[in-house]
Amino acid sequence: SNKIVLASTNPDKLKEFAALLRNFPDLELVSADQVLRNPAKLAFVERYDTYLENALAKARLANQGSHYPCLADDTGIEVNALGGRPGVKSFRYAKVPGRTLSRIEQNRANNELLLSEMKGKTDRQARFVTTLALCIEGILIHATGTLDGSIAEAPRGDQGFGYDSLFIPAGSQKTLAEMTEAEKNALSHRSRAIQELMSQIALRGIVFAKP
Ligand code: IMP
Repeated sequence: SNKIVLASTNPDKLKEFAALLRNFPDLELVSADQVLRNPAKLAFVERYDTYLENALAKARLANQGSHYPCLADDTGIEVNALGGRPGVKSFRYAKVPGRTLSRIEQNRANNELLLSEMKGKTDRQARFVTTLALCIEGILIHATGTLDGSIAEAPRGDQGFGYDSLFIPAGSQKTLAEMTEAEKNALSHRSRAIQELMSQIALRGIVFAKP
């Protein structure tokens, strides 16, 4: 099979990509932890003001360190009433001075801050944006997927990760965290980005994976 490295150390993302790429049985998804000497470096290249720059930087770094095709994901949630924040800064949205939070603590702090900033706001519209970059044999390909929706009044559900328990996709009653993995993947920003990336790859005639 063809190995492809996910340029991320986030186990939730790895799990989602594994499901999203199940339609491509000749691809073997490998986590950055398995192939990079210093996967922690990925967090340091993620310092730009656009999803695209962050995704390209991560894909390139992982490719240089592994020589396998590398896929990177940069995602954010953009909230209308907050002028598009936290956007590309969605991971370190809630800051606790003098302390580095674990991923779980950070997610919880982010959700609490988002709810408090949204208190009393009538416009609750928001969207998820995912930009993917694939670095394969020195070539960089990228694609973006979005999901429109709104911010719930309180968290609901325990599936998914990150902001999922606060995000209700347009046309849905459930938050993303109340959906099964398959339900989320049928409509998510990430799955739309993957579809777009796969068509970019096909358009360029790159032999990458057979569906
Ligand atoms: P990053 O792309 O890993 O930098 O993630 C940015 C932030 O968005 C983190 O706080 C993630 O937890 C959150 N995030 C990324 N993808 C999703 C998703 O699919 N649902 C909910 N939150 C997400």
